[in-house]
Amino acid sequence: MQVVRSKLELKKILSSQTNKSIGFVPTMGSLHEGHLALMKKARLENDFVVASVFVNPTQFGPNEDLDAYPRDETKDIELSENAKVDLLFIPSVEEIYPRKVSAQVKAVLAVDVLDGKARPGHFDGVLTVLLKLFMLVQPDRAYFGQKDAQQVAIVQNFVSDYFLPVDIRTVETVREADGLAKSSRNVNLLEEERNEAPVIHRALLAGKDRILSGCQSEQEILGAVQEVLQDVTLKLDYLALYSYPDFKPVTDFTKPMVLAAAVKYKKARLIDNEIVLPSGGEAECYEQ
Ligand code: AMP
Repeated sequence: MQVVRSKLELKKILSSQTNKSIGFVPTMGSLHEGHLALMKKARLENDFVVASVFVNPTQFGPNEDLDAYPRDETKDIELSENAKVDLLFIPSVEEIYPRKVSAQVKAVLAVDVLDGKARPGHFDGVLTVLLKLFMLVQPDRAYFGQKDAQQVAIVQNFVSDYFLPVDIRTVETVREADGLAKSSRNVNLLEEERNEAPVIHRALLAGKDRILSGCQSEQEILGAVQEVLQDVTLKLDYLALYSYPDFKPVTDFTKPMVLAAAVKYKKARLIDNEIVLPSGGEAECYEQ
């Protein structure tokens, strides 16, 4: 595996990969099995796999955890190598943002809810860095985790609106044995928070069960989630049910939905979601 830090070197190596399909896994590092699942799928579907480790400052708000975001480059290199990534791109902030941009990317669809609402400007930063990375890597396929369901939908819409020649592929959320969604931020949980956090997934599953048993009342469904959370200390940033993948209020409980929650702990904000397919069919739009 080649570790590359400059755009120039990246370009040089990629230009020698003629007639090879390129799979790309963008990450913010502190890699875990969730990232590895993306790399594994990319490895299966492409001739050449590029992953990036870049903690993107533009997707963090002024009071968010940019400085406290966990970083472990040595381990990231080792895990990427084991996952048979061909090229690991670890650029500096200056390499990606050498100057103030002359035109801005602004996410406008499906950003009025969930993380888009809770983290103003977050998805502008996500799309900005992805556009830059897609232009540098020029991948045939790019891999994203369903854990960030709203991100996948926003990226998918962006790619399709601007005819970006990349196929967005998704991977289901990888979890710890106790159900907690794997996240780089989990290392910032206090011990008691870590012990409690699997309740988030259990609560979402209770809501999902209520939907699958035919309930068509949003209040009752969210109530079933709240019931599981009633004896715990965690602070909900949001808990909501939306149609999927368009993130609108639910009007038809027989169509795909997403039940999503964000939780604020002392030094970590966690998100999780469950996609619900009441008819047992496939969610429109995104492959699994
Ligand atoms: P991050 O490093 O947190 O920006 O995540 C990079 C990519 O990995 C994103 O597409 C995430 O959705 C995905 N990802 C993060 N955690 C998980 C997980 N537990 N399961 C599957 N994918 C994940």
